[in-house]
Formats: sequence, structure tokens, C-alpha cells
Amino acid sequence: RELVGSSPVAEEKAMEAALRPKALDDFVGQKTVRGQLSLVLESSRLRGAASDHVLLSGPPGLGKTTLAMIIAGEMNAPLRISSGPAIQHAGDLAAILSSLTEGEVLFIDEIHRMSRPAEEMLYMAMEDFRVDIIVGKGAGATSIPLELPPFTLVGATTRAGLLPGPLRDRFGFTGHLEYYSTEELELVLRRSAAMLDVSVSTEGFAEIASRSRGTPRIANRLLRRVRDWALVHSVEDVGRSAASEALDTYEVDRRGLDRLDRAVLEALCTKFRGGPVGLSTLAILVGEETETVETVAEPYLVREGFLARTPRGRIATDAAWEHLGLPVPVPEER
Ligand code: ATP
Repeated sequence: RELVGSSPVAEEKAMEAALRPKALDDFVGQKTVRGQLSLVLESSRLRGAASDHVLLSGPPGLGKTTLAMIIAGEMNAPLRISSGPAIQHAGDLAAILSSLTEGEVLFIDEIHRMSRPAEEMLYMAMEDFRVDIIVGKGAGATSIPLELPPFTLVGATTRAGLLPGPLRDRFGFTGHLEYYSTEELELVLRRSAAMLDVSVSTEGFAEIASRSRGTPRIANRLLRRVRDWALVHSVEDVGRSAASEALDTYEVDRRGLDRLDRAVLEALCTKFRGGPVGLSTLAILVGEETETVETVAEPYLVREGFLARTPRGRIATDAAWEHLGLPVPVPEER
């Protein structure tokens, strides 16, 4: 109950922290990755050595940070958290690496956004547990080798393809996180509802889950909005119609598409007759970064069959026109 009354961002953070499953067995879904990771971790336990470096890839909010925490927990090792954008100079990375303790897990979120020099320093650190620290400038610069304790790097990226090959190759294991099924999201929601002290029926959970874009973070966020709606409307038990009315208010439609998703489809259909159109043009039209459109909106639109990638650009499928309530153009009109 402490959560109620705190700021929305603080509430989201507090809830994310509290809801994070602590053990691999409590982690809902992602069966393949869980099985693979469990082997990697078990082997490292048996060998009594730090685990191989792990790369986790997948759209935002699917549990990469959570898995990094679980990896550290399962290995009984401390966890250090950093992110690509925070590591702009090789020196930033050197400072982190040189303070790691033996067996520590270093989590670097958005690892594809690290600077080039830092990335190159990381190659050597990952492979030989060693870095060369450059002291001084120009002709007088010298490099001082520094031994590092064995550590495990857990890198997270929205797309493994965004990483340069040499970096990708230095990870012993890459786990690809997939979108969650509605049933899996219902499990996530049940846990969260108990924590938020909100009563939701099975159909209510199904309705929220089906609009959560296969993403636990979104499921938890929508649940909080439904909670707000129910509180204000004095609805004690949230059923399907209450959940759906609440989510309509927040412009999350039946297929889980939000404002950005619909803006992308609308731009594609109404400005380009369904495409093909380049990603960067689409991004400008909807006023977003290309990377956001590519990693947040597009994977879900592709998965739901609303958008297709072709060598000539993005195209809207018939389902996209139908979903927007627009007449599907006949081929010669395109
Ligand atoms: P980002 O890359 O944007 O940081 P992420 O992939 O690291 O996202 P997390 O922060 O790990 O995502 O997870 C987001 C929220 O979803 C957390 O509150 C977490 O508890 C919940 N969550 C994620 N995966 C699961 C899961 N498998 N079971 C239960 N809850 C989950």
C-alpha cells in the first residue's frame, strides 16, 4: 500500500523491482532461453568458475534486466549495472572494470550504444580479463596493462544484429527473448494484481493480457491504469468490460496497438498508400527516432501481421488497412 501516493515513475520503478522474479524457476515463460541459461549456469557452478559471457537480445520490457539479476542471484555473485549510453569514454569502462571483484556479474544494458573505443577495450577484457590503460597523450602516451579478476558480462540489446560482429562473437551464449503469450502474461498479471491489491476476474486478466503487446512491462503498466480506472469508478471487481473500457480510455486498442503503432500504420497507409517506404521517412513522419520505430513499434506490428519488411521498404498489409477501418486498396491503386 506504500506504493499508492508515490509519483508514477517511482511507483513503476518500485513495482518493477518488487515484481522481479528472483530465481530462474519463478521467471514466467521464455522456456527456451531459461533452459539454455540454466545449463550455462549449472555448468559454471560445477566447474566452480565464472560463467561464460551472456548476451540477451529482444524488444524492451521482456525481462533482460530481470534475467541479469537472476544470473547474479543464481551464481551468488554481486551484480553491477551500467548501460551503453553511460559508457562513452574508454575511461568510463576502465573505471568499472578495474573495480570488479572476482566472479562479479557486470550487466550492460543497451550495449550496442557504447562508444567505439570502449567497445574495443571490452573485447580484450572479455577475452583475456585484461585491459590496457593508456596514460598520457600523443608521443608520450604509454599503455599500462591491468589484470582483471574473472567476471561475467551480461549484455542486453534490443537486436543482436545491432552489435558489431567481433563483440557478438565474444559472448559464449546468446539468448533471444520472445514476446510472451497471453497465457504467460496472465500469470505475470496475477502476481502483480495481488501486490497492487486489485481484484480482477479471469476474463479481466485475459482482456488486459491480450492488449499488452506480449510484454510484461506493458502488462504491469496497463494493470495500474486499470486499477486507477476501477478506483475512480468504484468498481470492486474488474471484469472483461471494465478492463476493456479502462484501456479504451488510454487508447490501447483491442490488438494492443498504442498511439505510436497506429501512427506508423496511418502514415504508411494514408501518406504512402501502404508503401513501400523507408524506415527513416516513417520515423520522421511520426516524430520519433528511427531506432524507436525499429525496435519498439515495428517488431510488434510485424508479428501481428500489420506490417512487412521488404527490400524496397516497409509495406502495410491488408490487415493494417482493415484494422484502421480504411478500405483495402485494390492492387492497381497502390
Ligand atoms: P529494458 O531492456 O527496457 O530494460 P527489460 O527487457 O530489461 O527491459 P525488465 O526490466 O527486466 O525488462 O522487465 C520489465 C518488468 O517486467 C519488470 O517489472 C519485471 O518484473 C517484469 N517481468 C519481465 N519478465 C518477467 C517474467 N518472465 N516474469 C515475470 N515478470 C517479468
